[in-house]
Amino acid sequence: MKEVTRREFLKLGAAGTAGLALVPLANPLGFDIRAAKKRAIEMRIAGAKEIHSICPYCAVGCALIAYTKQVNGKTQLLQIEGDPDSPVNEGRLCPKGATAMQLATSSRRVEKPLYRAPGSSKWEEKSWDFVLDKIAQNIKGSRDNTFVAQDANGNVVNRTEGVAFAGGAAFSSEEGYFATKVMRTLGIVHIEQQARV
Ligand code: SF4
Repeated sequence: MKEVTRREFLKLGAAGTAGLALVPLANPLGFDIRAAKKRAIEMRIAGAKEIHSICPYCAVGCALIAYTKQVNGKTQLLQIEGDPDSPVNEGRLCPKGATAMQLATSSRRVEKPLYRAPGSSKWEEKSWDFVLDKIAQNIKGSRDNTFVAQDANGNVVNRTEGVAFAGGAAFSSEEGYFATKVMRTLGIVHIEQQARV
């Protein structure tokens, strides 16, 4: 048997690896995972309605296509993906946007306001009216308790340092501007904006 030198062995190994790498591309009935995936997605969304939308997570505003189907009289969301016709994202989505479907389908999604009373260890479902009233009462209470009309030098400041505000990443410039105005009206000086994460 012919002895294989180290150099020949490495050459054979490289050729074998290249051959293996080519098999999936060359063999349509073989292991082309990309083609299989594409086909599976096509089958999944075959006959589905295309609805164009915008990713809700940040102000980049990537365009999405949501595929829905009527199943037993109910609209079922099948798939969400980047819109290839969008000049903003050209079909791409960042990891956050790529999980947008979970906003609608995740079993961990919180669908009702939850409230934990002071001292309590459990969360209770409450109505939106209840939580909005509660938030308003707490803002007013904190503002009343911490309001400073004049600083130590007698300058009129009319501010509260007992309340802070953080804007969401989905804010547009206009919404951020509006929120800032409202917060300043209340005398809030600790204002922050989560640009995007
Ligand atoms: S979160 Fe990601 S996908 Fe969504 S708009 Fe922002 S960059 Fe685009």
